[in-house]
Amino acid sequence: MKPITKAIRTRIAQTGEMEHSSPLFLTSSFTYDSAEDMRAAFADETEANIYSRFSNPNVQEFTDRVCALEGAEAGFATASGMAAIFGTFLSFLKTGDHLLSCSSIFGSTHSLITKYLSRWGISYTYADVNQPDTWASLIQPNTKMLFIETPTNPGLDLIDLEWVSNLARQAGILLVVDNCFATPIAQRPIDYGADLVIHSATKWMDGQGRVLGGVVVGKEQLIHDIYLFCRTTGPALSPFNAWVLSKSLETLQVRMDRHASSALTLAGTLEGHPRLSWMKYPFLPSHPQYAIATKQMTNGGGIFCFELKGGLDSGRRFLDALELLSLTANLGDSRTIASHPASTTHAKLSEAERLAVGITPGLIRISVGLEDPADLLADIRQALDRC
Ligand SMILES: *Cc1c(COP(=O)(O)O)cnc(C)c1O
Repeated sequence: MKPITKAIRTRIAQTGEMEHSSPLFLTSSFTYDSAEDMRAAFADETEANIYSRFSNPNVQEFTDRVCALEGAEAGFATASGMAAIFGTFLSFLKTGDHLLSCSSIFGSTHSLITKYLSRWGISYTYADVNQPDTWASLIQPNTKMLFIETPTNPGLDLIDLEWVSNLARQAGILLVVDNCFATPIAQRPIDYGADLVIHSATKWMDGQGRVLGGVVVGKEQLIHDIYLFCRTTGPALSPFNAWVLSKSLETLQVRMDRHASSALTLAGTLEGHPRLSWMKYPFLPSHPQYAIATKQMTNGGGIFCFELKGGLDSGRRFLDALELLSLTANLGDSRTIASHPASTTHAKLSEAERLAVGITPGLIRISVGLEDPADLLADIRQALDRC
């Protein structure tokens, strides 16, 4: 079976009602017929549910579906993408360990690494995505984990998954990939040797801007460690959110096909526009790493970005001139979203700090929704005329 068929057909066992769609199990705990059954559950001798902080049928269905899509042995779902990232870091890193991370990563992940990991005596180094030949020299004897995003946020730079997997394997360190931007429809890092794959399910997986969620999938032994850490520390995904997210996965492939084809159309059409100094989308031949994109991705994803001539002020005017596109902090929605990181999410950083993570003054990121691309093009064009 193809991954999407397996994902769509994976479900909670039917109840006596013979319902076709999975019911919602809003329950904090589960019961047992006997003291012996309860003892066996607590001794981990059976698969029986105990408490929804540990496991829940809706959460398990969502997790199993993500495993089918990513080709993973096991997984654990969390309340948000950041909870999955934090739970993964703290399950494997301890005082004295070192984390190597690519430099352009999601803002909150950057804050977690830079501001908080030192509290537990964990050190870090950022590796420049555009200088892969320096990475091997950044691995220290105490490096335990290599964390990457590809495509990166918001710059859409790519990391060669085959190359980076070999690097991690030779060094004997864990490779963890945040696969949020690509989704398992476009890219499956485990096929290239990644140990763990993380998602913010809040983004394309929900795809409709409704609920938060996160998930980490990968080797069974590693997931067991994450499960033990998370069932104690409590970042559990709500069964309601899991029910919403699980249903969303049934349409992930058709949605991503449309997001990606619209993104390619828009990026290709707008490339060369006189108001832009450059356009970037992984599946445009002009992308500096187009060869890597077509090697490891089946589509370019739903996000493209460009640089406005005129920098910071043009960026603000462009957002104000948009009539259809939404101005919001999210991405991966059925409605198209425009963002200008330099004046919003990354405004607190200095210009030098922004440039170090690939955020130029006029950078605009577009998360392409499911509207008709002709309407999106018309709105972006009229906004470009007015900025
Ligand atoms: C949004 C996002 C996260 C964090 O996910 P939340 O669900 O918001 O906690 C992590 N990584 C990437 C790439 C993201 O876009």
